[in-house]
Amino acid sequence: MEIRFAKIFSPYPVGDTNVYIINHEIVVDAGINLPISINDLKNELEKSDMDFESSKLILTHPHVDHFGSAYMFKNVYAHEIACERIHDAEKSYFELIYHHFGEEGMPLEVSRKMKENALKEYSKLIRPCKNCSKVGKKIRAGDDEFEVIHIPGHSFSHIALYNEEHGILFSGDTLLNGITPNPVIEPDGRYKRKPVLQHYLRTLGYLYGLEIEKVFPGHRKHIENHRELISEYLNGFERRSIEIFKLCKGKTAYEIAVEHFRRKDQLFLAMSEVIAHLDFLHDKGFVEKTDGAYTARGEVRELEELWKEVKAEILQ
Ligand SMILES: [Zn+2]
Ligand SMILES: [Zn+2]
Repeated sequence: MEIRFAKIFSPYPVGDTNVYIINHEIVVDAGINLPISINDLKNELEKSDMDFESSKLILTHPHVDHFGSAYMFKNVYAHEIACERIHDAEKSYFELIYHHFGEEGMPLEVSRKMKENALKEYSKLIRPCKNCSKVGKKIRAGDDEFEVIHIPGHSFSHIALYNEEHGILFSGDTLLNGITPNPVIEPDGRYKRKPVLQHYLRTLGYLYGLEIEKVFPGHRKHIENHRELISEYLNGFERRSIEIFKLCKGKTAYEIAVEHFRRKDQLFLAMSEVIAHLDFLHDKGFVEKTDGAYTARGEVRELEELWKEVKAEILQ
């Protein structure tokens, strides 16, 4: 199997996007829609005797640093919900998210400003991608076959490519070296949300069971011991869950996010993360929600017990 690897410039804190070219046929993720990034991508394709017309692009998930320039490709494949989302460059998705942020205590002027900034920023980094089709269960690149796995958590419509023979996984942002990815909010209409942290935990359990030699992630260096990383992620989720639980004293998700993260420059991710944990705690009966305010129920040691069980089930 021939895997070419390119780092495509991205302005986000997580760093440049990793784009992979497999057997001169398949491209995994495209990168952001900035002139410098597109230029880099074009050069990389040329080095592999490929172009935007002939290659097959597989998108791991619908985040701008992975699909911003997908519209350049003729053949784009992703999870069907990812296809829907990028069709309008995430416009309707963001509308829903800011509605949820408002419902979770974010002051109207803050969410309005965030939305305005996001739309302004976004229009430079993204273009709608109208030529995306639902990816099949298997993908072939030359002599190698990949299983397409649905791995919700960081994003509901996240997929990974797995080649059992070589023990290779293209993980997108679900497994990243040195940082724990955010369980990003996933509205299910205006008032419901998908349980993203529960999804992430299930996905980690599934990936833990796979035989993997090497993970090729969406950012940063490759990963050789995915089980160790998964176990670190679980400890990180547990720590955060307990910290957020302790802050549930009749406060809204917004108040908890501001208090927990103590900064307002990454509010989107802070809100997303806190809401994911609050939904989890609510689902497990550890918080009560009244008029948008969360109050802890039970003791910290009981929550620690729950996490012990969650971890034992995944790490087996
Ligand atoms: Zn992502
Ligand atoms: Zn990313």
